[in-house]
Amino acid sequence: MPARLVMKFGGTSVADLERIRRAARLVAAEARDGRGLAVVVSAMAGKTNELVAWTDAAGLAAQGLPDSDDEYDVVVASGEQVTAGLLAMVLRNEGLRARSWLGWQIPILCDDAHGRARIEDVPPDALAAAVDGGEIAVIAGFQGVTSEGRITTLGRGGSDTSAVAIAAALRAERCDIYTDVDGVYTTDPRIESRARRLSRISYEEMLEMASLGAKVLQTRSVELAMAQRVPVRVLSSFVEPGEAAPDTGTLVCDEEEIVEKRIVSGVAYSRDEAKITLLGLPDHPGVSSQIFGRLADANVNVDMIVQSRARTAETANMEFTVGKRDAARAIEIVRAVKDEIGFEDFAIDEDVAKVSVIGVGMRSHAGVAKTMFKALAERGVNIQVISTSEIKISVLIEAAYTELAVRALHAAYGLDQL
Ligand code: ADP
Ligand code: ASP
Ligand code: MG
Repeated sequence: MPARLVMKFGGTSVADLERIRRAARLVAAEARDGRGLAVVVSAMAGKTNELVAWTDAAGLAAQGLPDSDDEYDVVVASGEQVTAGLLAMVLRNEGLRARSWLGWQIPILCDDAHGRARIEDVPPDALAAAVDGGEIAVIAGFQGVTSEGRITTLGRGGSDTSAVAIAAALRAERCDIYTDVDGVYTTDPRIESRARRLSRISYEEMLEMASLGAKVLQTRSVELAMAQRVPVRVLSSFVEPGEAAPDTGTLVCDEEEIVEKRIVSGVAYSRDEAKITLLGLPDHPGVSSQIFGRLADANVNVDMIVQSRARTAETANMEFTVGKRDAARAIEIVRAVKDEIGFEDFAIDEDVAKVSVIGVGMRSHAGVAKTMFKALAERGVNIQVISTSEIKISVLIEAAYTELAVRALHAAYGLDQL
């Protein structure tokens, strides 16, 4: 079996024909090395947003669950079909053998959770035969098909997950994610220009970074890479072949493969949060179970939770956060259970952001929280909710302070580039 490699190009890397040609040059360079190649592409930058807006305008937004409709997927999956065809054409013009593959042609088999489908299986045979035969497989990312033959999409940023799933199915030596930054940084380089590129990051830390808001990789792609042990490299597509230094990019790998030990590896933020407050809850067993049971039944993901006893001893107050896309549904449920449970009042605040510090070194070092709280206090940033895990601490703050908080924490943990 020849070595196989998966390359993935994100939206800005295929934003127009000029960029597609540059991506093709990077692909051609790898093809010359004799590897079997599968190349996954996103839609052109901005295209998916435009398609989503069309579905809203057609009436889906009015129906309440705009992105969980089967026809939503038919529309938004189309952006990737265009770039897959164009890249295959450009590669052929370069004299290479290439063909495009859509999700259903491989097939990338998914469950039927439209708009956020999970990949269940990728039968590798047809793709492997093409790739091993020297034909470059140019694959439309983001899309799959249900067992009933309906088109699905994998959630925003889902082409990363397509790429990792294909790398796992093909048992590729690596999955290279080409994007508009040259690796994973200690924080979003758009917010902090002093952010540093990490030459390596562990799967676990990358998983936390992604799920806490660093959109450089879709969370599920990291989950999958970790489970299937796919080495993932993040690197820039904005270079010509051979131009980048050999140690460029970031390798996402096992913790044991990282020599440099850090306590905190990165700072992430997410503005996609909404905080719901319930006041005057009866303070007896079963209340939380009733509320969160109903939210879970409605597929609403709850993230941070705090509960405190009110001054009047018989009642409690509770705050929890959900993603902004689930906020309306969550409030509907809260309204519905208000009388059943008998609490006094509720409120929603969407003007919040979650800022997190992440690092596997936290497992063995004390004082990480202290540094965080001190740095935020010194900038006058008020903490509304705190949550922790073994390798991260997150705080919920007022959205206006997001950038200030990210920069303060980045400096406080010594992550700034010198
Ligand atoms: P693509 O279209 O290639 O999938 P994305 O826009 O999804 O690219 O992801 C790349 C972007 O992720 C970068 O432009 C950067 O602003 C953002 N980003 C957020 N956090 C980080 C981080 N820690 N390291 C690198 N990039 C980050
Ligand atoms: N085009 C899709 C999106 O914008 C998938 C991707 O780019 O990964 O979300
Ligand atoms: Mg992306």
